Amino acid sequence: MALSISPVENRRERENGVLVYPVYSRRSGGLSVGINLFPGKKSCNFDCPYCEVFPFTANAVFSCDQMEEDLREVIAGALKQNIPVRDICFSGNGEPTLSPAFPEALKRASRVRAETAPASVLVLITNGTGLLQPHIFSLLQDTAAALNIWLKLDAGTPCWYKKMNRCEIAFEKLIAKIKEFSAVAPVTIQTMLCAIDGESPPDEEAQVWEQLIVELAAGGKLRKVQIYGKARPAPEDPKTSSLPAEYLEERAESLRGKLHCIMRGKLRCNMRGMFAVLQNAPPVEVYL
Ligand code: SF4
Repeated sequence: MALSISPVENRRERENGVLVYPVYSRRSGGLSVGINLFPGKKSCNFDCPYCEVFPFTANAVFSCDQMEEDLREVIAGALKQNIPVRDICFSGNGEPTLSPAFPEALKRASRVRAETAPASVLVLITNGTGLLQPHIFSLLQDTAAALNIWLKLDAGTPCWYKKMNRCEIAFEKLIAKIKEFSAVAPVTIQTMLCAIDGESPPDEEAQVWEQLIVELAAGGKLRKVQIYGKARPAPEDPKTSSLPAEYLEERAESLRGKLHCIMRGKLRCNMRGMFAVLQNAPPVEVYL
């Protein structure tokens, strides 16, 4: 199978009902094989204005058998061309944990990875709302050792959350669940930094977000923080725009400074009034 890994082709494929697609990922730095649980239409309980999945309909339904077959074929195609598979990633046209097929698909993908691309990692890109469902919380907790969970956290305040994610779920409720989960299972936090209607995140938002990440690091098992900017402008998305690279770097540097303060035991963390000292500060990476 020929591999098409450009973002444009990738979008076309996703909107044409594919279940498995290869894509070059700037975050994993190589070939990522995406699994799409929603081939027929976009399904997400967030409505992020910067989202690269636009509303569409295709005459396609998800099937675990088909997904497994396609996954094996795409991985075999990559290996035949000597392209290493960096990760197998649940992402696609929406929030993966909303699909009733997610638990079975996760089991199958895990098996295929172990059999065909054992050097790759299994990744779930999620907006975190699945953690509010007890069965998803338990499933992810049980599989966290073998699954890299990349959790979206675009805001520190309810106000910016409303603008960035446009979701009805109360911000406080979601954050409480993310704190509970990250205390028991390792997660990578992903934060999109962009302007909305020409407006950058307010200073207060930036400070509260930073404090929130510090609390998560102090009270939980943060693997990494990924800050990323809006890379590809799309005509369907007039609301958001990129912020200067220096702004993203400044935010990352400020966070690194706070995390290193905890490591050196200089920063009292608010979390449950405890004094926390990290053994290792999670890396903070920027993707432009
Ligand atoms: S959570 Fe992801 S899929 Fe859902 S709207 Fe936001 S960016 Fe798009």
